[in-house]
Amino acid sequence: MAPEKSRPRPKPHLTSEHQGFFTREKNLQRAAYNALIVYRIKDAYRRGRYRSRTKPLMHPVHRHKIHPLMQQWDVSVNPHARNVASQHLKFYDTAIGLAIRNLHSTRGIPIPLWRDVRAQGVICSVCSCVFSCDGYTDHLSAEDVCRNWHAAQQVKNRNLPNKKTPAHTTELEESLHEEWFDSMAPTMTALLEWNSRVGIPRDVWVLVSTSEKQCLDCNLVRSLQAHEHHLVHGVCPATIL
Ligand SMILES: [Zn+2]
Ligand SMILES: [Zn+2]
Repeated sequence: MAPEKSRPRPKPHLTSEHQGFFTREKNLQRAAYNALIVYRIKDAYRRGRYRSRTKPLMHPVHRHKIHPLMQQWDVSVNPHARNVASQHLKFYDTAIGLAIRNLHSTRGIPIPLWRDVRAQGVICSVCSCVFSCDGYTDHLSAEDVCRNWHAAQQVKNRNLPNKKTPAHTTELEESLHEEWFDSMAPTMTALLEWNSRVGIPRDVWVLVSTSEKQCLDCNLVRSLQAHEHHLVHGVCPATIL
């Protein structure tokens, strides 16, 4: 007998009282990710094609003014783009939440921290969306049922893989939610949903978790917009003595 099957889990007593967070239609839409986009972006990222000094590939998020997959999180297309994220800020001040915010600010984050954040992605076997470890755990009921899915179904594996939780590397800054939300980039909105019980589709996760820009002078990584904001007349402040 396979050892992983040995631990019996309580059977959820389900259906009648289960009310999924999303409708059936929305769930099917979220679960049906574009596998070709996922493969292509992951492959190019792994090969360093977006960071190549000689012939860098332009990342799809940077190539489009608004990438078709990002429209839902862009206020210029969807006036309610920030509503969901603004209602699910339970993990806004954790190390992961802070890293997401600093990634989208002139502060930036070190590459190892960004790597730890990216390594947190957990895919739910029921709703097929991706979550941070905190978001994943929070989206399950006490009986391991995915609370987002329209029908009550237990996830295959409750135990999270061994994920390293990043330590706080910077001080928490006194900032009101509103300050961030006023100018929030679509990639940040999507990442905040990823770091909550809402989760995001798999193709969107691959897009937002690879659309980084590393500064070759200060070595910190930021969103493209934040990278441009941290430059002073086109020069990284770290090079100005
Ligand atoms: Zn789920
Ligand atoms: Zn820099």
